[in-house]
Amino acid sequence: MYKADEKRYDKMKYLRCGKSGLFLPRVSLGLWHNFGSVDKFENMLDMVHTAFDNGITHFDLANNYGPVYGSAEENFGRILDKDMRPYRDEMVISTKAGYDMWPGPYGDHGSRKYLMASLDQSLKRLNLDYVDIFYHHRPDPDTPLEETMEALSDIVRSGKALYVGISNYNSEQMRAAAKILRENHTPLLINQVVYNMFNRWTEDDKLQDTCKEVGAGMICFSPLAQGLLTDRYLNGIPEDSRAKRNHFLHEDQITDEVIDKVRKLKEIAEGRGQTLAEMALSWILRRDKVTSVLVGASRPSQILDNIKMIEHLEFTDDELDAINKILK
Ligand code: NDP
Repeated sequence: MYKADEKRYDKMKYLRCGKSGLFLPRVSLGLWHNFGSVDKFENMLDMVHTAFDNGITHFDLANNYGPVYGSAEENFGRILDKDMRPYRDEMVISTKAGYDMWPGPYGDHGSRKYLMASLDQSLKRLNLDYVDIFYHHRPDPDTPLEETMEALSDIVRSGKALYVGISNYNSEQMRAAAKILRENHTPLLINQVVYNMFNRWTEDDKLQDTCKEVGAGMICFSPLAQGLLTDRYLNGIPEDSRAKRNHFLHEDQITDEVIDKVRKLKEIAEGRGQTLAEMALSWILRRDKVTSVLVGASRPSQILDNIKMIEHLEFTDDELDAINKILK
């Protein structure tokens, strides 16, 4: 029987999420890949135990994570049943709706009809009474924002989620969403967006400042650019890598130009006494504007490698300049 490591809170750092009372670990674990019905249950269990034993209290899901859709939530429910339910109150469990989930007009986008039904389905798969954070997964320009935000607010009121978030919303969309939620007396907890060394749109959009302005936290997904910002692809494309195994990272994205940048970044990382993966994560957390990095993993050892960076978040100006030169 699993028993959580008694030292699990010794090393991880936690930051309040925006102006809320909720602390999030600086490193959270995402279950988008490697937790589906096609994956090995023992490995998932091992990854969740490894994460939790090292202070990662936040687990991020969505209705359609798998494959097949829904299976990551089902598997996380099995993990809870197996030996993690005693720790439920030490965990922050999130899920989302906003992308296609079931056939027909009610299984996608941002309607009240879809969000309410989807969360009920997620809770059944997870075998939970409530999730900690429920997100609208992406903006839906064709549904009135009032409808989507009022649905989120009612979900909190119903007790099926403790907090609500949005994902992939830019500054303008976020300001509008936060305003409606505020009018409904539901604070916006967080915005979940992609941010990594190769994808810096949130800097151009000043999203980090907008999060601060509206009092929300920011959590960054694909912080390792799905594995590109690691040693994974330095000597070709391994058979067991994401680029070989599914269509979200294409082999043709791994160009000589990308690998050249990765090698140069790796040299800077080594100068700092870090792996490239560690440096890529520290770089995101270098300013306290980002609440948490949301990493993915295909094996427990990657989680252990990645959390080491928590000890070394500072960068010198020279290091930042050298990184910017490479990324230009
Ligand atoms: P990452 O950028 O962290 O990529 C994770 C992948 O990188 C792993 O599966 C593994 O790939 C590789 N990797 C991780 N650590 C190491 C290491 N130390 N050394 C070598 N390779 C490593 O994040 P994801 O793209 O997986 O996204 C993380 C989470 O963000 C998701 O699970 C999900 O919860 C969330 N997300 C949210 C989205 C949204 O729209 N809101 C969209 C996308 C993600 P390999 O399999 O090759 O070993």
